[in-house]
Amino acid sequence: GAITIGISLAETRNRALAWVAVLVGIAGFFAVAALYLLRRQYQPMAEVALNVEDAVARAAGGDFGMRLPAVRDGVAGHISAGVNRLMKTLDDSVGTINGKVEQLMEYDLPRSRNMLLSTLEMVEGLVDAGRFKQAIEEDESKEEIYGRLSRIIRERFDLDSFSIYEVANSKNHIRAVVVDGLPEAEIRWCDQEILVRADACRARRTSHMVNAIDEPRICSMFRPTTGEQGMAHVCMPMMQSGNAGCIVQLVTTAETAPLVRMLVPFLRVYLRETAPVLEAKRLMESLRESSLQDAMTGLYNRRFIEAYVETLQSAVKRKDSHLAVLMLDVDHFKKVNDTHGHDAGDKVLVAVAGVLKQTLRKSDILVRFGGEEFLAFLQDTAGDGGVVAAEKVRTAVEALKIALPNGTLQKTISIGVADFPEDSADFWEAVKFADTALYAAKERGRNRVVRFTSDLWKSDKA
Ligand code: GH3
Ligand code: MG
Ligand code: MG
Repeated sequence: GAITIGISLAETRNRALAWVAVLVGIAGFFAVAALYLLRRQYQPMAEVALNVEDAVARAAGGDFGMRLPAVRDGVAGHISAGVNRLMKTLDDSVGTINGKVEQLMEYDLPRSRNMLLSTLEMVEGLVDAGRFKQAIEEDESKEEIYGRLSRIIRERFDLDSFSIYEVANSKNHIRAVVVDGLPEAEIRWCDQEILVRADACRARRTSHMVNAIDEPRICSMFRPTTGEQGMAHVCMPMMQSGNAGCIVQLVTTAETAPLVRMLVPFLRVYLRETAPVLEAKRLMESLRESSLQDAMTGLYNRRFIEAYVETLQSAVKRKDSHLAVLMLDVDHFKKVNDTHGHDAGDKVLVAVAGVLKQTLRKSDILVRFGGEEFLAFLQDTAGDGGVVAAEKVRTAVEALKIALPNGTLQKTISIGVADFPEDSADFWEAVKFADTALYAAKERGRNRVVRFTSDLWKSDKA
């Protein structure tokens, strides 16, 4: 009996073990199957997530070149493709913006830098320089402009050692207009020789930037005092009428040289903006008491335009811009002379010149062209803009009450407008076309503005 019981127990245990093994097997199979399915489902997602993280990190560093590997289908595939599209758009747009900004700055960024940040820096630099240009355009004298430029170098660029030199018009002289931020100070960083022989200054002579950071001892005129050895300089010419009219010199220690080297392209943007404004200012100052101005009205005379036409013409062409040409003539002016006398006539002319100065921009060039005929050249203004400005002048003259000994007088004015170079690529022909339009304004009853059109010219000739 005891033996039989022993056998049946062992059998039962074996059978139970066999069942347990089967159950464990089944459970294991399902577990593996489940894991396999889960892996199949989520692994692509996990990979995409890691790739996206990587791409975003690189994009934050200004590199949009990364592309995620293609995933066949499913949500992960959509995400990958979407991220790739985004990266491509960013890559293309930032590349385009960057290229344009580099063009404007005339400077190629080192590709190792964060392109996004450096493009941003350059855009900020350009915007600041634009604001600066606006400010100096409204400055009264060139001394104010030198002062403003020197404040920019000190405050924006954080440089203390620098000079601004001015080359005398038509003479072989240089004078230091700013030295280390101080106006009209003693020359400090160069040999005195440059003062009496402008061509001794390499930047002046060559019209090129002279960079002693990259080429030590390039200019023998650089003379820091003893105890200041190891100093370097960068001299940047500002071109005026085809020559270096001013030179800005930065002076640096070996320690700050890399920083100065980096700032140079930014400062050059400012200098590029300053040069034409300074040129105009210098020209005007030298003309103030010269034969090119009309004594009675304070406007330029015909000879000025003859002398200035080349500069004006090439500035318009260089900027690929427009110049609105306004020809103005007082209506029935003879009557003023006949009725009120010649002095009253003169008063009217002075008053009309005053309206022109007040109504038009500082950068516009106002000329008394003949007796009671005026010319106005509106910079960066196309024909339609010229008509708007002319209309302002016309209404201002119409509203003007000119005081005479025996009461007040009101006059009107007729204006013809042409666009250089749209109406004519020849400057004097554009002036003639403005006159043609003026003639049409007179014909149509005076006190009006007429924009030149080619049919006017044909009917005028006929
Ligand atoms: P319109 O409306 O057609 O222009 O008629 P207008 O009388 O103004 O005719 P026009 O332009 O021919 O007249 C020019 C006159 O301007 C002739 C001349 O006596 C006068 N004039 C020219 N220069 C001066 C000047 O400096 N002072 C004064 N008082 N008169 C001047
Ligand atoms: Mg006239
Ligand atoms: Mg007249």
